[in-house]
Amino acid sequence: MNEKPEKLINKKGIRLDGRKADELRPVKLEVGILPNADGSAYIEHGKNKILAAAFGPREMHPKHLSRPDRMVLRCRYHMAPFSVGERKSPAPSRREIELSKVIRESLEPSLFLEYYPRTGVDVFIEVLQADGGTRCASITAASLALADAGIPMRDLVVACAAGKVEDKVVLDLFDTEDKVGSADVPVAFMPNLNAVTLLQMDGQLTPDEFEKAVSMAIGGCRKIYELQKEALKTKYMLIEPEEEDEE
Ligand code: ADP
Repeated sequence: MNEKPEKLINKKGIRLDGRKADELRPVKLEVGILPNADGSAYIEHGKNKILAAAFGPREMHPKHLSRPDRMVLRCRYHMAPFSVGERKSPAPSRREIELSKVIRESLEPSLFLEYYPRTGVDVFIEVLQADGGTRCASITAASLALADAGIPMRDLVVACAAGKVEDKVVLDLFDTEDKVGSADVPVAFMPNLNAVTLLQMDGQLTPDEFEKAVSMAIGGCRKIYELQKEALKTKYMLIEPEEEDEE
């Protein structure tokens, strides 16, 4: 059990991990790190460390789950037993099944599912280390893995949470703030289309606080979006242009 820390925000407005209220944790993104996957991405979001691997579009198995008019997206969010302080069972928990669904629903609007009828795309998300906000970091990495697999999309999906800690609305809660704080609002967003694809709320906020949390989370998403694009560019700039045949 986590012991309740004395103060989550000090008199100067600085949080336990040294951040200001509207400050993101450091985010690091990398694409194309798993050669066996069609597309892959790795994210470090604060102390969260998460891998995402995308496969497809490919034939659906079992076949009866395929759809005649569109591609089917399947997502599996899984936490490694060593990803949290106390060993977690490797079997899928109710929470992991729910998060898999939530992540799939936040990614679907970004994809042109109708381009590949009767096929399937699978995204496997492995949380290697968790420190609060893993659903958001997973969405950010999964969308990058889908882009790396070359799957046509309307926009990248990027996610970030905001919440309430000691009566103050703050950006990007880490584990202790998530558990001890009074509210958490994860938001997934497509910045180019200005469209929200996931909005959840855990806890209680006044309408004003809710509005502030959502706009703060969207601000965080916009910052991470730049890092997502940078990660894709970094991989594709490293690919040498093919030499022309000499004839
Ligand atoms: P999210 O990771 O999206 O914030 P939750 O709010 O459900 O999702 O979880 C908050 C945090 O609680 C996780 O990021 C993780 O650090 C921690 N956590 C989740 N499941 C477990 C578990 N089985 N044991 C210990 N800590 C856990």
